[in-house]
Amino acid sequence: MKQHFIIDGKKTQGSKGSFDVISPRDQSILHAMPNASEADVLDAVEAAQRAFPLWRNMGGVEKQKLFLAWADLIDANRDMIAAEVSAEMGVLKDDVAGTAAYIADMIRYYAGFIVTNYGDVLSFEDDHMNVVVNEPLGVIAAMPPWNSPIESTIQKCAPALAAGNTVVLRVPEEAPSGGLILAQLAVEAGFPAGVLNALAGMGPESGEALVGHPKVRLVSFTGSAPTGRIIARTCAEQMKPVVMELGGKSPVIIFDDARIADAIESSVSSAFCFQGQICCATTRVLVHESILDEVVKGIAERVERYALDNEEFPIGPLFNDKVFHTVEKFVAQGKKDGTLVAGGGVIERDGGGRYHQPTVFLFKDDSSVVCKEEIFGPVLAIIPFSSDEEAITIANNVDYGLAATVYSENRQRIFKTIRQLESGTVWANCNFKFNMHMPWGGPKSTGIGREFGKYAMKPYLQEKNIWIGN
Ligand code: NAD
Repeated sequence: MKQHFIIDGKKTQGSKGSFDVISPRDQSILHAMPNASEADVLDAVEAAQRAFPLWRNMGGVEKQKLFLAWADLIDANRDMIAAEVSAEMGVLKDDVAGTAAYIADMIRYYAGFIVTNYGDVLSFEDDHMNVVVNEPLGVIAAMPPWNSPIESTIQKCAPALAAGNTVVLRVPEEAPSGGLILAQLAVEAGFPAGVLNALAGMGPESGEALVGHPKVRLVSFTGSAPTGRIIARTCAEQMKPVVMELGGKSPVIIFDDARIADAIESSVSSAFCFQGQICCATTRVLVHESILDEVVKGIAERVERYALDNEEFPIGPLFNDKVFHTVEKFVAQGKKDGTLVAGGGVIERDGGGRYHQPTVFLFKDDSSVVCKEEIFGPVLAIIPFSSDEEAITIANNVDYGLAATVYSENRQRIFKTIRQLESGTVWANCNFKFNMHMPWGGPKSTGIGREFGKYAMKPYLQEKNIWIGN
């Protein structure tokens, strides 16, 4: 596929030259990607602004047909999407094809909200009527991350568009093709020019230009907490709302009455899926001291199965040098602060790429930075606890709250724990489950607002109260 932006319904090239997209598998150059200048961002926002009245006023069923045609085109192009995105992300093509099917369904799901955007009648008297209608905001900036380039694109764009907004999508520069293809397919499905615009560029340039543009009415960003704070500061100056899906440091609590084998299996598979480069990956396993030895041994045995060429327990590449150096830094710290249980080393491999063993440390308590900060790589911390209260304190003793898991056979203990966990999602006796109906996000530095389900619609709509007199 020839790389290009979509601005005002047309394929365009960036006006700031191009940048190389690098393969995580072997660090080869995959292709050159046009680079957006500030002027390109302005063009995209202007196009979205011009398209807004038409899109807002278009009939619901007409819009639904466009959504359904878009979803069908994604299904029809699943292989092409999978080839492009898997090369850029360093994941298996089949996995991306599965995600492409999922996002097509997500578009169909949000098509339902287009015609169910009901308001409220607050009063209907002899001399007046008082109603509330939900209106779109205008131009939305959507900024998905490299580790979820197509799913996060649709997580943001589908509800924003279903609410009647227009969108400027800034795709992640490290994995840009997926979002650009999705925008191109929207044009092919018949979306009017300017309704969904997409471009790629460097964060501090195109990203800041988009975030700070006064005609952008909301910024929906997924990325790290430090970048989220920079963006939120800019938005605060303009009283601009944000949706922020940021980091995680997700714990699994294993109580002494848990089904230990299940807890081990799900903790390890969640920790090392996509090399831990997932916002809600398990990063801390909190274990009751009475079962610590059994859990540590079980985790070590399970982790040893990971290998480069193992289809069932694969080790893939770390995404880029930034991730690799962060992992190296935290692994070195873990060796100082804790006991190495498994892994701990770089994997030397012919043919380039950055590969690292799945790594597990046992700590005496949670004072190490390895137990506190988001690493976003294949590093798991095991921390013992001696009481339910201590388990909950440790679980909450981080700056994030995206997801938490609890394993116990005692329902009362489960309920009490769930109520006290500072987490947007809690899994009990299961882990790492997802569904497009559920809300996604969390408190503290994990962000602001929720995506998925009906909850994703809320930020993209604003209430208007109308009094109608005689
Ligand atoms: P990052 O914050 O380093 O970068 C994200 C994007 O922000 C990049 O595309 C970059 O170009 C852009 N950017 C950088 N500076 C900017 C600026 N000043 N203005 C505007 N944009 C700017 O994050 P990352 O390392 O690419 O992604 C990993 C992070 O994403 C992790 O913290 C992970 O937890 C988080 N994440 C969260 C979720 C969730 O649902 N909560 C999902 C996926 C990823």
